[in-house]
Amino acid sequence: SRKVSHLNLIIICVSIVLDRANRAASFPPLQTFSEEEGMMREAVKKYAQECIAPHVAKMDANSFMSDEVIKSLFEQGLMGIEIDPEYGGTGSTFFSSILVIEELAKVDPSVAVLCDIQNTLINTLLVKLGNPAQKEKYLSRLSTDMVGSFCLSEAESGSDAFALKTRAEKHKDYYIINGSKMWISNAEHAGVFLVMANVDPSAGYRGITCFIVDQGTEGLEICKKEDKLGLRASSTCPLNLDNVKVPETNILGEIGQGYKYAIGMLNEGRIGIAAQMVGLAQGCFDHTIPYTRQRTQFGKRVFDFQGMQHQIAHVATQIEAARLLTYNAARLKEAGRPFIKEACMAKYFSSEVATLTTSKCIEWMGGVGFTKDYPIEKYYRDCKIGAIYEGTTNIQLSTMAKFIDKEYDY
Ligand SMILES: Cc1cc2nc3c(=O)[nH]c(=O)nc-3n(C[C@H](O)[C@H](O)[C@H](O)COP(=O)(O)OP(=O)(O)OC[C@H]3O[C@@H](n4cnc5c(N)ncnc54)[C@H](O)[C@@H]3O)c2cc1C
Repeated sequence: SRKVSHLNLIIICVSIVLDRANRAASFPPLQTFSEEEGMMREAVKKYAQECIAPHVAKMDANSFMSDEVIKSLFEQGLMGIEIDPEYGGTGSTFFSSILVIEELAKVDPSVAVLCDIQNTLINTLLVKLGNPAQKEKYLSRLSTDMVGSFCLSEAESGSDAFALKTRAEKHKDYYIINGSKMWISNAEHAGVFLVMANVDPSAGYRGITCFIVDQGTEGLEICKKEDKLGLRASSTCPLNLDNVKVPETNILGEIGQGYKYAIGMLNEGRIGIAAQMVGLAQGCFDHTIPYTRQRTQFGKRVFDFQGMQHQIAHVATQIEAARLLTYNAARLKEAGRPFIKEACMAKYFSSEVATLTTSKCIEWMGGVGFTKDYPIEKYYRDCKIGAIYEGTTNIQLSTMAKFIDKEYDY
């Protein structure tokens, strides 16, 4: 019987080891990528260095996104990441989009936001809500050569987005849209605009409807772009809609559901902005640390002072934490689990971390960090937008608080 119990012990030990191994396999660390995700990440890293980096300073100085860069994003399949290959898309996943946005933002946050809005807002709306004819017409263009813009904000409705005033009036089988939009990213290059307009103001936000408006439609005017602090290569323009006639077949999804679509898209889109801020912080850090390892003062590398090391390690931890929040929100979304609170946390925290990182990096570089000879000051200017668009920091915090309040509703 001693032999049997010895054997039993061995079996128990082996099963514990196997169980641990299985558990390790089924709960991989958050920074584990599928083969496809890993390959995409590496490919984009290389592409961004080779094809985007040489243009960054000039695009920032000229406030203009190079056509060559936009063309190359399409060629690389980065503008239709989740679009089905049937429509010329890459047929990849949301998480891949997040990795792509992060990698692009390391090199240029303006290019990252172009890719982010196209993938997380425009394409997703058309994939989810488009009828077969709309998908046929737009998805193949969006994945190959057409930029899209998302048009919600107006001069008097920013955080309070659903107070929008743009009106769409029904006539026979078409609508006439009148109003104006503000802050429309990528408008300068867009071939299509997804415009939120109210078809029935008496119903309040329940009248908000999403219209597909093609560039060149009579009455659609793209006005002078904003002269911005950062993200200068990304065009941000007001739009005027003056008796813009669109057929009713250009309604995306259902009449009166626009507010739901906008909220839904922005909830997901925030994870993209979080990824942009993580990439921005990492890109800035990666430019700075080598300098601190080369620069000597008092006969030592600047990196070797303990006062510097503690700050550097602190910032590295913050970036890591922001990345984990972002990846976790993305994985939750992909798994079909609740993710809104986590997406707000990721966006809020990543934008704070980007602000801290870029500010510290300038200090760690000393005087040269303050000049345009290095890209650090650009990251510092670019990061500020993270606390503003796709819901300001206050709005993220308020949304999180709503969830927290509910969690304690026994
Ligand atoms: C570069 C750039 C690109 C953009 N791209 C797009 C785009 O492509 N499409 C689009 O539709 N929009 C876009 N926007 C608009 C953006 O989403 C809005 O600017 C943002 O939602 C904030 O709105 P606002 O500017 O009107 O600020 P406001 O809403 O006026 O906010 C001003 C301040 O008040 C605070 N505040 C407001 N309400 C509350 C509240 N309830 N509780 C606490 N604090 C509050 C805010 O946090 C903020 O600090 C873009 C903006 C910029 C700057």
